[in-house]
Amino acid sequence: MTPADNLKGLHHIGIAVPSIAEALPRWLAMGLSLQSTDVVPTERVKVAVLIAGSTRIELLEPTSEDSPIAKFLANKGPGVHHLAFHVGDCQLQIDTLTTAGAALLDQAPRQGAHDCKVAFLHPKQLGGVLTELVEDPHGH
Ligand code: ZN
Repeated sequence: MTPADNLKGLHHIGIAVPSIAEALPRWLAMGLSLQSTDVVPTERVKVAVLIAGSTRIELLEPTSEDSPIAKFLANKGPGVHHLAFHVGDCQLQIDTLTTAGAALLDQAPRQGAHDCKVAFLHPKQLGGVLTELVEDPHGH
């Protein structure tokens, strides 16, 4: 399988917010619908999944001061945090990128929400954009 075969498209856009409760009404007013709200304890983040057609937006709220999202908000303020690409096989994409000399934050997939396997590339790899790979057993 080539990287092009493995890459299925954009999975979601992650947006850092200080408060999902405050941000949510504006996204609902835009016409997106709330699919789920979850807490991911390992990432110290609360995630609200918003859907519009095939587009998925994830609002990310820190659940503690040492959350990566809390650090992002302190440094850059609210806004786009990362892009996530849907891949068929997360480990394969990691191996392919590693062989190509790419800067990765994860050498192996970690467990994400909804039974997904996820891994992150270093922001310097793609022009300052933090990028996530998502292997999603549910498709999208
Ligand atoms: Zn994400």
